[in-house]
Amino acid sequence: MTALLETRSLTKHFGGHAAVSDVSLSVTQGEIHCLIGPNGAGKSTLFKLIVGTHEPTSGHIAFQGADVTRQRPFQRVQRGMSIKMQAPSVFKELPVRQNLHIALQHHVAGHAALTREEDRLLELLDLSADAKKLAGELAHGQQQWLEIGMALALKPVLLLMDEPTAGLSPEETFKTGELIQKLNAEGMTVLVVEHDMAFIRQIAQRVTVLHFGKVFAEGSIGEVIADPRVAEIYLGKAHD
Ligand code: ADP
Ligand code: MG
Repeated sequence: MTALLETRSLTKHFGGHAAVSDVSLSVTQGEIHCLIGPNGAGKSTLFKLIVGTHEPTSGHIAFQGADVTRQRPFQRVQRGMSIKMQAPSVFKELPVRQNLHIALQHHVAGHAALTREEDRLLELLDLSADAKKLAGELAHGQQQWLEIGMALALKPVLLLMDEPTAGLSPEETFKTGELIQKLNAEGMTVLVVEHDMAFIRQIAQRVTVLHFGKVFAEGSIGEVIADPRVAEIYLGKAHD
């Protein structure tokens, strides 16, 4: 098993406060890895360190064997990370297909191949029937899926998502889980920050639990759910 992404003793201080403290995390090629923990545990801060929008106070990040600790976010994207941010940032005034076309145009050569890839993504995202609609007219969940499609257009090696189910109905959440599982079945490695436990049960293979900025527990989804210490810190605080 190869580690695709590794953090070593990663630490981030804000003033005197350690939001992320000594976190060593390993994401294996081909897995769906979920990062969970109560509100304020440091999940979003760790996510930002990994994608490069925050600089660590200390520690290291390796991606595909290369040290990316001091690299800019765009350099990490060039290396194969793709980020689905929390709020959809699709081009609302353009049709759904055009959104995908713009995201794909520098990654796929030739008109026919581009159309084929647009069709493939539309089908995968269950947006084929809405290809001509303006992105702004889509339901919130559909906009989130389009945003995932835009992230996939970059042909990433690692797909990173911060709360992909935020604001979604239970049905939309379940469908998002199915989409992530389908991508994973095709070989995509996925790192998801999430606090919706039902969603985590649906998709997670490995889980890392953060608490007060530190790794509190780690294991398979079954091990983490069975850990009474996790239930203790997590239950009742699951909605941040
Ligand atoms: P989570 O995503 O798990 O809810 P965060 O990573 O957002 O947690 O926050 C972890 C801790 O770091 C919290 O105490 C939060 O207030 C603090 N924090 C996060 N971002 C900043 C920031 N930009 N400046 C100062 N403190 C921050
Ligand atoms: Mg957060």
